[in-house]
Amino acid sequence: MKTQVVIVGGGPSGLLLSQLLHMRGIDSVVLERRTKDYVLGRIRAGVLERGLTDLLREAGVADRMDREGFPHHGTLISYGDEMFRINFSEHTGHMVTVYGQTEVTRDLYEARERSCGALLFNVDHVVIQDADSDAPHVTYEIAGVSHRIDCDFIAGCDGFHGVSRATIPYRVRSEYEKVYPFGWLGVLSETPPVNDELIYATSPAGFALCSMRNSNLSRYYIQCSVDEDAANWSDDAFWAELKRRIPAAQADALVTGPSIEKSIAPLRSFVTEPMQWGRLFLCGDAAHIVPPTGAKGLNTAASDVHYLYHGLRQFYETGISDGIDAYSHKALARVWKAERFSWWFSSLLHRYPDQTAFDIKMQIAELEFLRSSPAAQKAMAENYVGLPY
Ligand SMILES: Cc1cc2nc3c(=O)[nH]c(=O)nc-3n(C[C@H](O)[C@H](O)[C@H](O)COP(=O)(O)OP(=O)(O)OC[C@H]3O[C@@H](n4cnc5c(N)ncnc54)[C@H](O)[C@@H]3O)c2cc1C
Repeated sequence: MKTQVVIVGGGPSGLLLSQLLHMRGIDSVVLERRTKDYVLGRIRAGVLERGLTDLLREAGVADRMDREGFPHHGTLISYGDEMFRINFSEHTGHMVTVYGQTEVTRDLYEARERSCGALLFNVDHVVIQDADSDAPHVTYEIAGVSHRIDCDFIAGCDGFHGVSRATIPYRVRSEYEKVYPFGWLGVLSETPPVNDELIYATSPAGFALCSMRNSNLSRYYIQCSVDEDAANWSDDAFWAELKRRIPAAQADALVTGPSIEKSIAPLRSFVTEPMQWGRLFLCGDAAHIVPPTGAKGLNTAASDVHYLYHGLRQFYETGISDGIDAYSHKALARVWKAERFSWWFSSLLHRYPDQTAFDIKMQIAELEFLRSSPAAQKAMAENYVGLPY
């Protein structure tokens, strides 16, 4: 088989890139290790920056998002019973859209299938070959049968545990990592959200987030220790702990119900440099991870896709390789700023095991500064709605 771009990974990065390339007449084949249902069953991000919503419109897959997504013009931050709002629209002229990653992925799958895009599932043993040459190829197996695809370029969109990053030799790669000493226990429930905007809460018992997917689907998180098992948390214990961490008025208003999904996510900051090697380009979680505080994971994946898509488009339309040559440099410049924001926002709101009384006073002072300073609020809002591409 031969194609122009092989895309390893059928998550949001790989699907979005493949759909954007298709709109410009550039062929790709997507290789996904799992089944479509498995990918769609993963409950992950839910807050989309304007850069991502614009890309989804450009890719022709935004109709449902524009109909069913919720524009959010601000967010609430609480500490104990104190709560204040950051007004995104007032400070930046922009907003974010609440629309689940699962729905984005579903819309992308539908679009790729409508145009008979090449999406291969249950693909095993993907090996990227000769990425540093002018003639790369990828080998893989489906149901025990070996296959080979020759291509011009390879996009490594296969997440943190994929094969693409590991294809770049150690001597070329530098990795930067911070592992946080806690995780997030998340619950999805068919209940109305406690508030029509997200609430980021900190308290002596730790962090909590009140988020949502739609008017009757809520997503709540509480900070937990990394070695906990979600199965050991009853729904009642989860709701009781959440109520302890949010202001009393919101705790009283919280509608609880049975969880329909419950899982623990570890928190990590990670970046690999460079994000390209020869004709292999890393996109999204394959190259970087952020803690979910600040909702930057999916959005940063989207900015990578934007840079790579424009580089490939320029190459195929004009023969000029400036865009793809500069891909890693451009993508990383924005990635590091998203890493900084996610790290800062996480550090502000979580309780750390080794935190001193002084450290806690610093967090409160910073929260009070953020509450009272329009300049600090503007900086927060600018990062939250997403830095320009
Ligand atoms: C539990 C969890 C909760 C999260 N919550 C949030 C949130 O609230 N807000 C936020 O902004 N971000 C969140 N994120 C991050 C966000 O979901 C990711 O940034 C986003 O999924 C990145 O998309 P991606 O396509 O780059 O990677 P992925 O979504 O990881 O997709 C990679 C795909 O590659 C496939 N794959 C892997 N290895 C191979 C292989 N060898 N061969 C072929 N295919 C392969 C995988 O099966 C997967 O489908 C969360 C992440 C996790 C894990």
